[in-house]
Amino acid sequence: MLILVINSGSSSLKYQVREVNADGTEPADPVVAKGLVERIGVPGSGIDNHVEALERVNEELEEILGDRQIAAAGHRVVHGGERFKAPALVTMEVIRAIERLAPLAPLHNPAAAQGLRAIADRWPDMPQVVVFDTSFHQTMPEEAWRYALPDALYTENGIRRYGFHGTSHDLVTGIAAETLGIDRDDFNAVILHLGNGASATAIRGGRSVDTSMGYTPLAGLVMGTRSGDVDPSIITHLIRNHHYDAEQMDRLLNNESGLLGMSGNADMRQVLDSAHAGHRRARTAIKVASYRLAKYVGGYHVAVGGAQAIVFTAGIGENSAPFRATVLDRLEPLGVEYDAEKNLERSHAPRVISTEESAIPVLVVPTNEEMAIAQLTLKVARQQGAL
Ligand code: ADP
Repeated sequence: MLILVINSGSSSLKYQVREVNADGTEPADPVVAKGLVERIGVPGSGIDNHVEALERVNEELEEILGDRQIAAAGHRVVHGGERFKAPALVTMEVIRAIERLAPLAPLHNPAAAQGLRAIADRWPDMPQVVVFDTSFHQTMPEEAWRYALPDALYTENGIRRYGFHGTSHDLVTGIAAETLGIDRDDFNAVILHLGNGASATAIRGGRSVDTSMGYTPLAGLVMGTRSGDVDPSIITHLIRNHHYDAEQMDRLLNNESGLLGMSGNADMRQVLDSAHAGHRRARTAIKVASYRLAKYVGGYHVAVGGAQAIVFTAGIGENSAPFRATVLDRLEPLGVEYDAEKNLERSHAPRVISTEESAIPVLVVPTNEEMAIAQLTLKVARQQGAL
């Protein structure tokens, strides 16, 4: 069966067509087609919105797929608020609910809703499933998701911690538990999703009990271009004394900070190369990023009542042995000990990189959000009788 997986960014649309077997597993080569439409809504690009982007995708697919039919579409949606605690089969009411959540994700949710409406208009019989970045974290206890702000900001405006990267944290938690032969319901871990965006999640009994991103994906760890945690008074100071407005503030914290802001480069590979060559700013960036990460691991080890695993995933987590090493060196006080050779091995399989003696096993587990979305789409569409 063919599943179309759609990831609508604010100005881009990524898609994959994936083959899923009837039993939910995937064949050896599951990606039948994939592509990316960029610069949506950018003047002169010829693509005004996500409806037109999907027209473009449709043309590409007709060429590649010929007569083969797509059975269902699965969409990644950034924000599900408190309403969506799991993936959902799409109805008009669900699309409206996603649109109502736009204040929480002003760039992403309207784009996703446009894509959902476009497919519903063009192929009214095709089941669509939405998979939310936030859902997995809806199990967090209140002490983890509350900000110490006046109560009305939560009750009236929904200002709380939501967390993101949920599909990846969920998938990787399951694979890590299986790799260690631990029942997921008994599994406590710290999952480190380190890509361009980065977040750590505390897993207790297989569920999320805390996560480093917050009301938006800006909070927490040092990222490629995002600052992660900063003292909020810096923002009021810059507004008051340096004439920043909201747009400039957004750009500063989301696009000009993190590794880029500190070292001049957002790409971890290049920052590591520069640090290795002795460049001071790059070394500082690596130190700040790894120190912050190690502090989160220590905190979450407490939050989960003792982690049974520390798990690295996503672009940096899966591929950067030197960055893993700098983080793991800082975890020695927890009794963490990694095997330098295993850390250097390259593989696409989930694997343990700690020594037998390590107090906490350390794993590298490749993530695959598109695969997870395709499988969830099939599962939900079937459960709801749409397939
Ligand atoms: P996204 O959040 O966009 O999905 P990815 O998970 O693809 O991002 O991760 C992108 C990041 O992974 C980039 O910072 C890139 O530098 C980093 N990365 C990829 N391969 C390596 C590598 N071999 N060494 C260090 N960093 C890497």
